[in-house]
Amino acid sequence: MSIADNLLKYKNELGQSGVELIAVSKYQENNAIIEAYDAGQRVFGENIVQELVEKQAQLPTDIEWHLIGHLQTNKVKYIASFITLIQSVDSLKLLTEINKQAAKNNRIIDCLLQIYIADEETKFGLGFDEVIELLRSDEYQNMKNVKITGLMGIASNNAPDKQTLDEFIELKVLFDGIKVSFFRKDDNFKEISMGMSGDYKLAIEAGSTMVRVGSAIFGKRVIKHYKAE
Ligand SMILES: *Cc1c(COP(=O)(O)O)cnc(C)c1O
Repeated sequence: MSIADNLLKYKNELGQSGVELIAVSKYQENNAIIEAYDAGQRVFGENIVQELVEKQAQLPTDIEWHLIGHLQTNKVKYIASFITLIQSVDSLKLLTEINKQAAKNNRIIDCLLQIYIADEETKFGLGFDEVIELLRSDEYQNMKNVKITGLMGIASNNAPDKQTLDEFIELKVLFDGIKVSFFRKDDNFKEISMGMSGDYKLAIEAGSTMVRVGSAIFGKRVIKHYKAE
């Protein structure tokens, strides 16, 4: 199946549900992204700043770029002028820097708080207590140039379906609690980004509004000339 065929399959599958498809194009060549673009896809996810910056400069300007990988504070400045959504905010320090760089660019940058839901040591993200602490902080409450539009989570790798579903449900329950406590009157807080190629169906079952699908659209990632951070 071609990239266009794969996209069409997801469009049809997600069509009725209202779940948004983020095409994860990390490590993919520009011509693969153009193929998806020509098939109508406009929202792409990348996880390394250097790779994202190069692609953004070379590819059509109406692409909406999401950063989905760990973001180092000192790299925010490279993406602040164009990024549509930073899905991987995992500390108050990082959010503070995004707010600062957004102000410099006269923008308000949409962000998701990345929540740690996996049963693994390797995944970045805020714990349940940490996210509450962040939202309660004066520092956050005084920020004018960031808008938190929801939460993001990555489930455990290769876990049994039951565990994966439980992790997604945990994120959904946390989202509902945070919505009521902090964003009751804020319609912008509505996204739960969860689900990838291998587990997006479980994520949708648990209430995902945004799935991040890479290899199932583009095929296996082959080129890897950027160092992961
Ligand atoms: C790579 C990546 C994805 C996509 O993974 P696939 O298994 O290729 O669909 C989704 N989310 C994040 C955060 C990623 O780094």
